[in-house]
Amino acid sequence: MKKSLRITHCALRIAVIGGGPAGMIAAIRAAEGGAQVTLFEKMPRVGRKLGITGKGRCNLTNTADNAEIIKNLPGNGKFLFSALKNFSSADTVNFFENLGVKTKIERGGRIFPVSDDASEVIDALLRKMIVLGVEIKNNSPVTDIIAEHKKIRGVLVGGKIFDCDAVILATGGASYPATGSTGDGFRLAKRIGHTVTEILPALVPLEVEEDIKSLQGLSLKNVRVKLLADGKKIAEQFGEMLFTHFGVSGPIILTLSRQAAKFLSEGKFVELEINLKPALTPEQLDARILRDFDKFKRRAIKNSLVELLPAKLIPIILDRAFIEPNKKVDEITQAERRRLVENLRGLLLTITQTRPIAEAIVTAGGVSVKEINPQTMQSKLVEGLFIAGEVADVDGFTGGFNLQAAWAMGNTAGTFAAK
Ligand SMILES: Cc1cc2nc3c(=O)[nH]c(=O)nc-3n(C[C@H](O)[C@H](O)[C@H](O)COP(=O)(O)OP(=O)(O)OC[C@H]3O[C@@H](n4cnc5c(N)ncnc54)[C@H](O)[C@@H]3O)c2cc1C
Repeated sequence: MKKSLRITHCALRIAVIGGGPAGMIAAIRAAEGGAQVTLFEKMPRVGRKLGITGKGRCNLTNTADNAEIIKNLPGNGKFLFSALKNFSSADTVNFFENLGVKTKIERGGRIFPVSDDASEVIDALLRKMIVLGVEIKNNSPVTDIIAEHKKIRGVLVGGKIFDCDAVILATGGASYPATGSTGDGFRLAKRIGHTVTEILPALVPLEVEEDIKSLQGLSLKNVRVKLLADGKKIAEQFGEMLFTHFGVSGPIILTLSRQAAKFLSEGKFVELEINLKPALTPEQLDARILRDFDKFKRRAIKNSLVELLPAKLIPIILDRAFIEPNKKVDEITQAERRRLVENLRGLLLTITQTRPIAEAIVTAGGVSVKEINPQTMQSKLVEGLFIAGEVADVDGFTGGFNLQAAWAMGNTAGTFAAK
C-alpha cells in the first residue's frame, strides 16, 4: 500500500521588538496572517509614547491623501509609497473604528479619537493583540538580533536566545527616552550590518543666541518666519510661534527645526528672520506707523507702538532699530522709521543649537531605507528581518503624519513577515 504524504504547516514564529504603534500593528497583522507572535517590550507596558501623543489626545492620522502624506514626510516619504498604498489614512480610520475607536476630524485634517484619549487607542490595540493570541512580554529588552548565514535565527532577551523565523524591529527613535525609545534599534540594526544614517532631532524647539528672555511666554500668530543658512533662505513658514526661556518653539518653528538641525550639524550659520507684519508691504507698514505716530503725537516712541506690537516686543524692536525708546514720536527721523520697518519685517535671531534630541517629538535619521524593501519592509541584508516605524530613516511633520507612517510600515511588515 502506498503511504500518503502528509504536509503539516507549522506556524511561523515571529518576534516583534518594541510595543509602540508600529510594533503593535505589525504584531496584529502577523497574528492575523497565522503566525505565532511574541512581542518584546522593554518598558513595564506597551505604548508609552503613544499615550502622550497629541498632548494625550493622540493625533492618529490625517485626512490627507497619500501624495499629501508623502509631502508631509520630509524624511523619505517616497519610500512609503507602497506601504501607504496598502494602508492609507482611510485604512487607519477603518482599522481603529473596527477596534471600537470612533474618530473625529479637526483643523488641518487631523484625526483624533472622539474620546480625546490616547489610552483608548492603546487599550484597543492591546485587546486585539490578546484576542489574536499575541504573547506580550513586558520588561523584556531585546539586546541582540541573531542571524546565521544572513538569515534570522532569533533574538537575545535576558541573556537567552528566543528562536524565531522572523523578527520585526520596531524600537522607535531616540527622542523622549523616558517612554522607552532610547535608540536601541539603531545599535541592534548596526550590529547586524545595517547602515544607520545620522541621527538628528526633528520637530524640536530652537535655542537662540540673543537675550530674549523677556519675551518668554509670548505667542505670535500670523507671522512669517524664514530659515537662513549662511545668509541663504532655506525655508519659510507662516503661522504661529512661541518664545520660551531658551529661544523659540511653536508649530512653525517645529516645522523649520528639521532643516535647522541639519544645517547646524554641517557647521552653517543658522538664523531665523521673523516678519511680524507679513500682510503689509513696507510702504503700508510705514503708513500705518505714521498713523500711530499721529494718534500718539505727544508720546515717547516706546508708548506709541502699543497698537502695532505686543508690549514685550517693543523694547527689542526699538533696540534693534537703534531708536532711543524715550525719544518723542515727532522727533523720529525718516531713517529711524525705515530701520523700524526693516526690523518689524525681519527680526533676526541667531540659532545656536536645537534643544536636545530627548526633547524632540521625532528622530530624523535611522536605518537606511536603501537597505529595506519598500514593498515588504524586509531587510535587504538579512532574510527574515523586517523594519518598521521611527527606527527607520523616516520622519514627518506634525499633523498625524508620523503615526500614519508607523501604522503603514507596521501593517506591511506584519503582513509580509507572516508570509
Ligand atoms: C510628545 C510627543 C507627541 C507626539 N504626538 C504625535 C501625534 O499626535 N501624532 C503623530 O503622528 N505623531 C506624534 N508623535 C510621534 C509618534 O509618537 C512617533 O512617531 C511614533 O510613536 C513612532 O512609533 P514607533 O512604533 O516607531 O516607535 P515608539 O512609539 O517609539 O515605540 C517603540 C517601542 O519600542 C520599545 N523598545 C525600544 N527598545 C527596545 C528593546 N531593546 N527591546 C524591547 N522594546 C524596545 C520602546 O519601549 C517603545 O515602546 C509624538 C511624539 C512625541 C514625543
